[in-house]
Amino acid sequence: MISDVIQFNSLSEIEQELVLTAWEASKFAYAPYSNFPVGAALLASNKNGETRIFRGCNVENANFTTICAEKATIVKAVSDGFQDLLSIAVVCAKVPGGFPCGDCRQILREFSTSIPILTVVSAQNECIRRSLDELFPESFGPSSLTWSAAVPR
Ligand code: ZN
Repeated sequence: MISDVIQFNSLSEIEQELVLTAWEASKFAYAPYSNFPVGAALLASNKNGETRIFRGCNVENANFTTICAEKATIVKAVSDGFQDLLSIAVVCAKVPGGFPCGDCRQILREFSTSIPILTVVSAQNECIRRSLDELFPESFGPSSLTWSAAVPR
């Protein structure tokens, strides 16, 4: 829906930085099979309250298993102790408006239920923003593994 489209200049300063960083990352995409270079930028914080932007690109291989750009950012952030995922932007010049795949939504869900997700929909960097709970309702997450006393066994 057109009303969902956010002009680049209407994004917050940090969201603008995420979009531009995602474009930078997409330049390094290794996508010889799909030829769909994707870039992502993830804002995350650690236990000390420090925030940092992690960027990632898709990395394909001859076995046709792909490491998505979004997944790459999460792995980089968590590996550096940044587990509080705050916001993520995704870009792909060939498929504008794409949101993270199901696998990436599940991995995001491990660390957040409602992280805002920006996807770029135009060459002018217009975006659509969705939260993870909009894209992944009634998701399975860490708390799903806890048996409730109310559930008969
Ligand atoms: Zn994915």
